[in-house]
Amino acid sequence: MIESTFIMLKPDTLKRGLAGEIISRIERKSYKITNAKMMSLDEKILTEHYSHIVDKPFFPGLLDYMMSGPVLAMVVEGENAICGMRTIIGATNFEDAIAGTIRGDFAYCTSHNLIHGSDSLKSAQVEIKRFFG
Ligand code: UDP
Ligand code: MG
Repeated sequence: MIESTFIMLKPDTLKRGLAGEIISRIERKSYKITNAKMMSLDEKILTEHYSHIVDKPFFPGLLDYMMSGPVLAMVVEGENAICGMRTIIGATNFEDAIAGTIRGDFAYCTSHNLIHGSDSLKSAQVEIKRFFG
């Protein structure tokens, strides 16, 4: 099934100059970027986006990090794109992310893990609406 998923290159990706590398991996998989914009996120949108982890001890640090610079928000489309992008991205915890995945190749800690991808069809729909209206 052709799906659209919400992808966000986090501040460390842009600071480290890895946006091109990551976009290239998305394109090599034959996914299409159908929308994209640079954004500076505020506490309100981040609290909504990360509502499942607001009570975690790492949340304040995550907020600071996500507001430390601009992000590149994207809609990525393709066959099985929601699950497929999660596979390319790799595991949340950087210790678990295997080589060949974006996080496995580039992440050096779990908060600064370079990229967000929607985890289900419902999240993809909600997140695309949240960031692109
Ligand atoms: N995160 C963190 N520490 C943790 C777990 C998560 O800093 O122990 C951050 C990390 O940036 C992660 C984000 O919170 O990408 C959202 O967590 P989620 O469990 O939704 O992981 P994801 O869907 O991004 O793999
Ligand atoms: Mg998630």
